[in-house]
Amino acid sequence: MKTIHKSEMKNKGANHIIDFYPRQRFSCRRCGFCCRLEIKITPDEVNRLKKTMLPSGQYPPAEWFITAPSQPSLFIAAKRENGECVFRDDSGGCVLHELNAKPLICRVFPLHVVNWEDGHCSADLRFICPGVGDASGVLLEHQPEIITGIAVPLKERLALGNTGYSDKNPAALTAVYRVHAGYRAILHDETIPLKLRLYTLSRIIDFHADKDNYNAIRAADAGFAADAMDFTRKAASTLSTELSKGIASLREIIDFRILITVYLRNDDPLTARSLWRRLKILCAHSMFAAGGGNLSRINPHSPDTNGRQCLAAPGKLQMNEAAKEIFQQFLYGKLDSMHFCGSMVNGLSYEMGMRHLLLSVPVTFTVAAAFARTSKRTVIGVDEMLAAVRLLDLTFGRSPFLQLKLTGKLLVRLSRPATFAGILNLISSIK
Ligand code: SF4
Repeated sequence: MKTIHKSEMKNKGANHIIDFYPRQRFSCRRCGFCCRLEIKITPDEVNRLKKTMLPSGQYPPAEWFITAPSQPSLFIAAKRENGECVFRDDSGGCVLHELNAKPLICRVFPLHVVNWEDGHCSADLRFICPGVGDASGVLLEHQPEIITGIAVPLKERLALGNTGYSDKNPAALTAVYRVHAGYRAILHDETIPLKLRLYTLSRIIDFHADKDNYNAIRAADAGFAADAMDFTRKAASTLSTELSKGIASLREIIDFRILITVYLRNDDPLTARSLWRRLKILCAHSMFAAGGGNLSRINPHSPDTNGRQCLAAPGKLQMNEAAKEIFQQFLYGKLDSMHFCGSMVNGLSYEMGMRHLLLSVPVTFTVAAAFARTSKRTVIGVDEMLAAVRLLDLTFGRSPFLQLKLTGKLLVRLSRPATFAGILNLISSIK
């Protein structure tokens, strides 16, 4: 399969460099999931919509919008008693869509578009939408006008994306992009086994995290990607031997189970404020980390499995080609857009974002295998992989736990080469 890493296109006479993985697919199923989300609308959009001739249904126009609870300067469309948007019609369609009058944020979903400070624009599709990954869906590479059509107005509304390499080595975004070209080239090289690509990147991150090597980031030039690939090929045999020696200790297995719970926990902003609820979640985390408990107590959409069974699941199950394709859409979608780090939502440094991305791979395979095991399947198929990446994509979008120092320390510990090799070797389906 030919992989296009970057696309340049023109929009209204201006050149836009858009970073995205072109093989992501989407087809809307009209399921209404997005119509239940809290979609923020600007006062200008509210004024425009109030002047549009809309069928009022059971709601008078004065009740179409309410002030957004989390941001009083904005509005949200009112919801019916069943939680659906007031503009959803009886056939499951959107009244505003029919009139070509949807607010900007409704037009964006399930795309995630970021304008960066250096003029780049990036896009990926959010797997929380059930239509993303649909085998019959339209490829993202065929939708450049939609991306640029969203990126231009978003530029006026949202702050530009930015990230430094790390908190200790805050290199400029231009240097980060040069380094990223190397990381991206290695992770995309499918002539190298995935496990070895992941391990190689953990070794390079480890090298860059040493303060004696900070200059390698700040002085990175256009030749960095070629040098990184050169290192990867020349050192492949040594790196392979190192990787094969990795064995996860009990402490590292417990840490990995904690990471799974951090990625999968489902934080309702209202109930999370209750001390009782927090204690219950903490207890569920601890039990799962110790090998018992049940993942579905942390997130009801998770597989019905305890900590010990969850890590036993990926030992035997392999993945079919269709599931691999979904996994690639998830991994390369985050990688190519760089949405694992510096978007306004994630706010992570590049290094922490990359550690997070690397660790999300064994977590994804583990959760997908647990879904397959609980459904008594003998291989990991599309349904199991889609269920796993949907859960993980929620974390990439908004988990406040990634901002915690404690989580940062856990990410660093688990992505250190010797530990990471042991974790990767727990999962035979990562090849
Ligand atoms: S959640 Fe996705 S598939 Fe469902 S209606 Fe919204 S865009 Fe369509």
